[in-house]
Amino acid sequence: MDPFFDHNTRQLTQSSWGDWSTSSFTRIIGFSFLTSVFSNTYVFDSVKLFVLGSVIEMGRRLCQWLIERFRFQYSITAQFDEGDPSYEWIVLFLTQENVWRRSRDFRVNAKNSKRKWGIKTGPEGKGNADYVPTYEEPQLFRWKGYWLEIKRGKGAQTVSHHGPNQAATIYVSIYTLDMDVLSDLVEEARLRYIEVSRPNVTVYIADMPTYGPGFVWSNVKHKARRPLSSIILLDGVIDSLVKDAQEFIDSEAWYVSAGIPHRRGYLLYGPPGTGKTSTIYALAGELGLEIYSLSLSSGFVDDSFLQKAASSMPKNSILLIEDIDCAFPSRDDVDDEEPLLNAGFQGMVAQNYRRSGRKSAVTLSGLLNVIDGVGSEEGKLFFATTNYVDRLDPALLRPGRIDKKVQYQLATKGQAAALFTRFFAEMYPTSEESPATTEKDAIPLAKLAENFTEGVPDHEFSTAELQGFLLSCKRSPKEAVAGIASWTEKELME
Ligand code: ADP
Repeated sequence: MDPFFDHNTRQLTQSSWGDWSTSSFTRIIGFSFLTSVFSNTYVFDSVKLFVLGSVIEMGRRLCQWLIERFRFQYSITAQFDEGDPSYEWIVLFLTQENVWRRSRDFRVNAKNSKRKWGIKTGPEGKGNADYVPTYEEPQLFRWKGYWLEIKRGKGAQTVSHHGPNQAATIYVSIYTLDMDVLSDLVEEARLRYIEVSRPNVTVYIADMPTYGPGFVWSNVKHKARRPLSSIILLDGVIDSLVKDAQEFIDSEAWYVSAGIPHRRGYLLYGPPGTGKTSTIYALAGELGLEIYSLSLSSGFVDDSFLQKAASSMPKNSILLIEDIDCAFPSRDDVDDEEPLLNAGFQGMVAQNYRRSGRKSAVTLSGLLNVIDGVGSEEGKLFFATTNYVDRLDPALLRPGRIDKKVQYQLATKGQAAALFTRFFAEMYPTSEESPATTEKDAIPLAKLAENFTEGVPDHEFSTAELQGFLLSCKRSPKEAVAGIASWTEKELME
């Protein structure tokens, strides 16, 4: 008896229908689906398109892979990190090469508007800000017959006392296998940077983030170049300094052939406000050198920072260490302060040091290591300044570390007269002896200067202090002459 046939109703039972549906029915549906797919051109075309798209996508990926292989095999890529001097060189280079013209993303920078590059707006290119291309999109351009590709990456995230900072990185790929092309490019970028910066003195000031990898020289300042004649020192002092430094720079070959490290150290010492730092800035401007400046009294400077700073500055530049007396005079002092050092938090250490006197986290041996190491790379001038020469360890003053010492003193009458003359020279455009053009009763400027110095005692005031007084009456030399005696009297009383 057939279990799926109901003999009473003479019909197939439900279960037999179900079985039938799972076998023959699906086959029919599947068959009719395929028939409709191939008979329906719309669906068929879609399938064709899908296959074609897949083939194109595979081709695209293959090409990309081949390009990457080619790029890897036949190009050199250099990375320029913000905070390293070379970053500034390459930014200028790219601006000059007009690569920025194709850029669509710019970083607007108001605080650096003294920079002599970036795209300027306004009449005669005098912008109120820099528009520095960010190169978010890769750009391709030609330089000296080579293809160069430039793109930007994000550098490390740091937090300094100025707040959080996302450093930038620029990658330059050159399609060549010749490494010399890269060094030519970097050298050209460096020379162009020096050329453009010539009206200014570029001063890199050491800056330390409190968190994250440190970009030592991230604080760049472009100071107006100051003529040597604006520095008022005793006769011949500045000339002999410039001559000495120039001779040193010119005699590199001699140093090399004699086997002597091409390094020269200068110590400028004397009371504050007598022109030590100004001299170094003016000298750097005269010789076309960049300054890398740090102060040992800055809380964040310790031995390893000092080492890092000195080793990350380029050839033919000046390392300026201010307040050099702040280094630890002896190992005994270090032992006294050991618990603080172990505390590990630089800011706190520095603060405590400052409270306990003018000492920094730099030790004498750390400082000597750096000064001796300055010669390991050629062509470096080392300048140190201090207000307290008697606090310096004799080891620091040895020839080879400090080769020339220059003493600065409080102003003499002669310097006061020179300062006065320089200050009011604009009011006497033709010559010192010509009659005053802006003051009704003409008195020669030289005469006024002489009267002025009668009120200034020798070696009592710094040039900066006298400059401060002159600023208070900068419109009238006669007022300055009339007021100087009472001013000096008041100052000496305090
Ligand atoms: P120092 O480094 O000795 O403390 P600075 O060079 O920083 O002194 O000088 C401080 C200010 O005083 C500057 O504005 C500078 O122009 C002025 N000044 C100081 N000494 C001189 C000087 N001898 N000639 C010209 N300007 C000076």
